[in-house]
Amino acid sequence: MTAYVKPADLAEACAARASHPDYLLLAGGTDYMVGVLHKDAPAGVIDLFDLPGLRGIERRDDAWRIGAATTYADLLRHEELCAELPLLAQCAREIGAVQIQERGTLGGNMGTSSPVGDTLPCMLALNAVIHLASAEGERALPYDGFCTGYRQIAARPDELIAAIELPRPVPGVQFWRKVGTRKAQAISKVMVAASARRSGETLSEVRLAMGAVADRPVRLKATEALLEGQAPSAELAEAVRAQVAEEITPISDVRSTAPYRLFAAQNLAARFVLEQCS
Ligand SMILES: Cc1cc2nc3c(=O)[nH]c(=O)nc-3n(C[C@H](O)[C@H](O)[C@H](O)COP(=O)(O)OP(=O)(O)OC[C@H]3O[C@@H](n4cnc5c(N)ncnc54)[C@H](O)[C@@H]3O)c2cc1C
Repeated sequence: MTAYVKPADLAEACAARASHPDYLLLAGGTDYMVGVLHKDAPAGVIDLFDLPGLRGIERRDDAWRIGAATTYADLLRHEELCAELPLLAQCAREIGAVQIQERGTLGGNMGTSSPVGDTLPCMLALNAVIHLASAEGERALPYDGFCTGYRQIAARPDELIAAIELPRPVPGVQFWRKVGTRKAQAISKVMVAASARRSGETLSEVRLAMGAVADRPVRLKATEALLEGQAPSAELAEAVRAQVAEEITPISDVRSTAPYRLFAAQNLAARFVLEQCS
């Protein structure tokens, strides 16, 4: 029989995690429930859905703090957040359909850390910091490096993801595109998230990230360097298209082929540049 724990707050959740590191953390359940009949039942479940202290959005002077159990629908209902972080809003709007958006959480997407998790490249492009909580307290890790391998994250078995912190963006541009088999309800074949400061004609502090092109989300640092300090132009878009091919080596699998993934990734990165041309 699977044990079920419903903590009243974050402190209780951390205590339960410390006592039962083998129990499953369950948020919206939209990842976990897929294929549940073919999985061994967990020893127990710690239910984090709607947990006070873990769900909610707080605007601070320098950053947004989003509780890990915040759903995509919560994000989309927050007009100020959507206005300041349009790339995250666009991404949330394209995840599953309304039912998934009402249940699925940001922390669940990070917890699964699937290469096709749509928010993962957004976290890189927005320079996210992950707050991990345990009975010992909280620690913060940059999201860049938080995914340590295929569906692996840098959290200890006694920790849970408490919140995601996103620096308030500087005046500039944000970009999000995902390519799937169809326009809605599609698992991504490739996704691109980017942000940059824009001063006059030039781009700086460029962060260009992709998902589904490796075992974890990746930043294309050489392409970012190519864009740094440059004014967007058709020539620059072509140079970016070529550089992307140097930086990623997608694989073929059930969802797409390596050549198609590369072609789409190049097009999306070039489109990011072309959309900034004045
Ligand atoms: C029909 C359908 C469509 C979907 N479409 C998309 C899509 O378009 N894009 C996309 O990216 N995903 C999609 N998903 C996958 C899923 O909805 C998302 O990954 C969602 O964000 C998972 O959140 P959840 O709260 O439901 O996670 P859960 O299923 O509750 O948990 C997922 C994993 O994360 C762990 N976890 C949960 N919360 C925490 C925490 N606070 N700390 C540490 N670990 C934690 C759990 O232990 C589990 O391993 C889809 C799923 C379905 C069923």
